[in-house]
Amino acid sequence: MDIRKPTRRSLVALTGAGVGALLALRRARAQPPAPGPDRLVLLGVRGGPLVDGYAQTPSASVIVFRGAPLVVDAGYGVTLKLIEAGIPLPALRRVFITHHHSDHNLELGPLLYNAWADGLADPLDVYGPRGLAELLAAYWLSNRIDLEARIGDEGRPDLRKLVRCHEFTQGEVMREGELAVSALRNHHPPLAESYALKFQLGGKTVVFSGDTSYLPALADFARGADYLVHEAMFPAAVERLAARRPNASRLAASILSHHTSAEDAGRIAAAAGVKTLVLNHFVPGDDAAVTPAQWAAAAGAHFAGQIVVGRPMLSLPL
Ligand SMILES: [Zn+2]
Ligand SMILES: [Zn+2]
Repeated sequence: MDIRKPTRRSLVALTGAGVGALLALRRARAQPPAPGPDRLVLLGVRGGPLVDGYAQTPSASVIVFRGAPLVVDAGYGVTLKLIEAGIPLPALRRVFITHHHSDHNLELGPLLYNAWADGLADPLDVYGPRGLAELLAAYWLSNRIDLEARIGDEGRPDLRKLVRCHEFTQGEVMREGELAVSALRNHHPPLAESYALKFQLGGKTVVFSGDTSYLPALADFARGADYLVHEAMFPAAVERLAARRPNASRLAASILSHHTSAEDAGRIAAAAGVKTLVLNHFVPGDDAAVTPAQWAAAAGAHFAGQIVVGRPMLSLPL
């Protein structure tokens, strides 16, 4: 007995410590690390669906506003780039898709899934043009066996119900507190449903051109913005790009007809009077012969304000 008493006390003490540690761990899990200060982070800046490595991936960005991350486009690679940017996936509350080209939406379903796998417990709103509901429904169907198994087996909430789908057209997309988002239909044939998005964040404004040919109306939409994140094409290099894709005979003509040159992006920025032009969605995004200085010089031919040549993980304060 003399020996067992202290042993039992030790056991109780150990168990108590164990429970305390477990509760602390649960508390830590229930409160994921904060996404950090308000900022705009470019995650993937390549135009087009090509994936040839981790460094350069298709379109994705994140705005952190009042502790809430807002994802803008979900091209392939968005999950890992968000993690690299220090954004806890379960903190995601809103995802916006500018149009249904795969370099903007291919990883939407997996991003939602990955947030759920990491503990997403609150509703997550997804906004996109017509076709979004179909895209999500098809993703849920393609993973139905796994989703239903984990809901029953692991006691997880139903991801299909946590995700709320909002299809938008031109005009106000959403408004809540200091956050307001609106859409302007741009010109991106053959897709009729393609949009520029404006984020009003308290006193700051960030506008994404989305994918578009030269669109003078964007200047009004982006008037006085703090950041205009505009797609950029380098026409002289487009033929070289097309020659590297032997399975797309009309690629060069297609690219030239529905994208905007860096020079014209500068024209829009000047007409809009934005504070900073951020070049993004580079076409081509894989031609080392076109240097950052050349991209900036092209845009700077018409815009005297600040020009930032986008790159993955570039963080800009808000
Ligand atoms: Zn694109
Ligand atoms: Zn596109």
